[in-house]
Amino acid sequence: MRSIHLPAHGSSGMLTGMTTPEATTYPHLFAPLDLGFCTLPNRVLMGSMHTGLEDHARDFGKLAEYFAARARGGVGLMVTGGFSPNIAGWLKPFSSRLASRWQVGPHRRITESVHAAGGRICLQILHAGRYGFHPLSVAPSAIKSPITPFTPRALSDGGIECTIRAFVRCAKLAQDAGYNGVEIMGSEGYLINQFLAERSNQRSDRWGSSTENRMRFPIEIVRRTRETVGRDFIIIYRLSMLDLVDRAQAWDEIVALAKQVEAAGATLINTGIGWHEARVPTIVTSVPRGAFTWVTRRMKERLRIPLITTNRINMPAVADDILARGDADMVSMARPFLADPDWVAKARSGRTSLINPCIACNQACLDHVFENKRASCLMNPRACFETELTDAPVAQKKRIAVVGAGPAGLACATTLAQRGHAVTLYEQSNEIGGQFNLAKRIPGKEEYAEPMRYWGNLLTELGVEVHLGRRADTATLRDGNFDAVVVATGVTPRDPKIPGQDHPMVLDYHDAIASGKTIGKRVAIIGAGGIGFDVAEFLTQDAPSPTTDIARWTREWGVDTKLARRGGLAKPETEPSPREVWLLQRSTGRPGKRLNKTTGWVHRAALKAKGVKMLGGVAYTRIDDAGLHVTIDGNPQTLAVDNVIICAGQESNRALADELSALGITAHVIGGADVAAELDAKRAIRQATELAAIL
Ligand code: NAP
Ligand code: SF4
Repeated sequence: MRSIHLPAHGSSGMLTGMTTPEATTYPHLFAPLDLGFCTLPNRVLMGSMHTGLEDHARDFGKLAEYFAARARGGVGLMVTGGFSPNIAGWLKPFSSRLASRWQVGPHRRITESVHAAGGRICLQILHAGRYGFHPLSVAPSAIKSPITPFTPRALSDGGIECTIRAFVRCAKLAQDAGYNGVEIMGSEGYLINQFLAERSNQRSDRWGSSTENRMRFPIEIVRRTRETVGRDFIIIYRLSMLDLVDRAQAWDEIVALAKQVEAAGATLINTGIGWHEARVPTIVTSVPRGAFTWVTRRMKERLRIPLITTNRINMPAVADDILARGDADMVSMARPFLADPDWVAKARSGRTSLINPCIACNQACLDHVFENKRASCLMNPRACFETELTDAPVAQKKRIAVVGAGPAGLACATTLAQRGHAVTLYEQSNEIGGQFNLAKRIPGKEEYAEPMRYWGNLLTELGVEVHLGRRADTATLRDGNFDAVVVATGVTPRDPKIPGQDHPMVLDYHDAIASGKTIGKRVAIIGAGGIGFDVAEFLTQDAPSPTTDIARWTREWGVDTKLARRGGLAKPETEPSPREVWLLQRSTGRPGKRLNKTTGWVHRAALKAKGVKMLGGVAYTRIDDAGLHVTIDGNPQTLAVDNVIICAGQESNRALADELSALGITAHVIGGADVAAELDAKRAIRQATELAAIL
C-alpha cells in the first residue's frame, strides 16, 4: 500500500503559497473603498442571489445565519435576494416583498446578525414586471415575455406613479429595518429594464416613444429614493450595460442613463449583463472568467462614481487582475459565496488554495430557484442550510475509512475530518476526483479542475491519510479496526448490449475523453444524457477551448464588443466542427430535454451551432465495418462512421459493498455506489455531507 500526503495544489492560473499574507498578493482587492459616508474594507461585493428563504418571514432566522456567516468571512458589502416593492412586482405568487411597516421587524433579524458579525448589507428592490410568474404582472406595455406564460397588464400613468412610490417606500422600509442601503434592480430584463427597451416599451406617453421618456422611470426612482433616504445611505443602481436582446438599448443611451442615475444620487453602479430571455449565456461554466468586465471599463471612462463589475468572477487572482486593469472599482460575486462563505478571509490570509470553488454549474443554486426549491450549492451543501446541516466538532473521535475519492468520497472524508474524526481515504486510481477528471477535460468545463485543487489541499490541511493506487479490500477494512466504513466506489458504464459493440471502432466515454486515442472524422454517440452531450462538445471543439479565449468566445456567441449595435448583439461566428457528429437516443423527443434547467439550452445551442445531428427514437441494430446500423422512425439506415462512442449511462459499483455485507461488516454506501440512476455530483456530495454530519 502506498501511503501519501497530497502536495498542496495551486489554483489554476494563480499559484499561491499556503502561508503568504495575501493582502499584499491581492492589493487591489483589499484596498478600502471610501463612499464618503462609510468606508468598505475591501472591493468585494456579495451580489444578489435569490435563495428562496426570502419568501417567508419564518425562514428569516436561516437567512440571518446565512448572511452572518458571509459577514464573518469578511466580505465588504452584501446584497440580499430581490424583494418586490408591491404585489404586482412579485416574481411568483406570494414571493418576497417589502411593502408594509409590519414586514420590517423580521428583517431586523438579518441586519442585526450581519452588523454583529461586522458586515454591511443592502436590500435589493426588484420589480419583476413581465417576468412575474403570476396573472397580476404589469409592464410598460402589454407584451408577453418569451419566458413566462402571462401577458402583463400595461401600467397606466397613475400606475407608474404608484410603482415609483412603491420603490421609494420599499427603500425607506429597508432603511428602517437597519439595512446599509438598497440595490435598485435595473437590469436582467426586469421592470425597469423593460421601460428602457423598445421591445417591451411601446408607449406613446411621457414614459415611452423617446429615449428620454423611457429613462424617466429609473431616474425618478433613484432621484426620489435619494430624497427620501438622505445622504448617508447606499444606493446601488444595477444598470443593464449589455441587454443581449434585439430592439434594446444602444450604447450611447446606456451611457446617458448612467450619467443621469449618477446625477440622481446613486452611490455605486453595478453591472447587469443580459436579459433572462437572452440567448447568449452569461454565467454558466463555459462563459470565460471575467468575460464581461470590458463593458464596465467602457462605462467607467464616462462616470465619476465607483463601478462594480460582475459575471464569472470566482477566484481572487481573477478579481484582483480586473481591478488592477482598472476595469472596475469593485467586483461582485454571488455564487462563489454560496460555495465558500470564507472566500474573502481565505484570500486575505494566504489560504487561497483552500477556497471552495464555484464551478458555475447552476445545479443547486439557480436551477433550484427555478424549480421553486431552496437554493444551495453543489460544492457546499451547507449553503442556506447553515442552521440545519452541522459541521460542529464531534465529542467522540472515531477512526473512519472512506473508500473512493470521487466527489462523494472526497466530500465525506473532508467533512468527517473537519469535524474531528481520524479519516483514511482509499482510491484505486492514482488521482482524486473520480468523474470530475473527465469533466475537466471537456472544453467549457475546465472549471471542474478546481474542486480537485480544493479537496487535495484540504485533505493535506486536515491530515487525512490518503492511499492512492490501491483498491481497499475487505481484509484491509476488517483488519483496520475502523469504527465506520464509508463506501463511495462510484459507478461503472452501462453495457448497452448492442451486437458488434466489441468492434475496434467502439469506444466508451472514458476512452474517448481521457485516453488520448485518435478519433475519426465521423462519429456516432450512443446516449444523449449529460455525458453524451459532454462527449459531443469534446469532439466538436478544436483546442484551445473558447472558454480560455474571451475574444473567440464573444465572437462565437455573437456579442458585439464594439457596442455599435442595439442590445450588444452581433452575428455569431461559430468555428466549424472538426468532425461530423450524431448524438443519439432511443427515447423519442428532443435530446437534451432532461439536462439542467438553466444550462441545458446552452449545451443544445452550442451543439446545434456546430451542426451536431441530435436524433431521438433511434433503435440500434448492430455495429460492423460499415458503421452503426440503426432504425429511425421505422427506416433502417447505416451511419457510416469511423467511431461509435458509448455513453449509455451507468450502474452502481457495489462490489465492495456486497463483499462487506457478506462478511457482516456494516458499511455506509453513498454516491453512485448507492444510486446510479440519474446520479449527479450534487446528489452525491449532499448525501456524503449529510452522512458526515451524523457519524
Ligand atoms: P444519463 O443522463 O442517464 O444518460 C444516459 C443516456 O443513455 C440516455 O440518453 C439514455 O437514453 C441512454 N441509454 C440508457 N440506457 C441505454 C441502453 N441500454 N442502451 C443505449 N442507450 C441507453 O447518464 P449519463 O449521460 O451517463 O450522465 C450521468 C449523470 O451525470 C447524469 O445525472 C447527468 O445529468 C450527469 N452529468 C451532467 C452533465 C451536464 O449537465 N452537462 C454532464 C455530465 C454528466 P435512451 O434510454 O433514450 O437511449
Ligand atoms: Fe456555483 Fe454550482 Fe454551487 Fe451554484 S451550485 S454556487 S454554480 S458551484
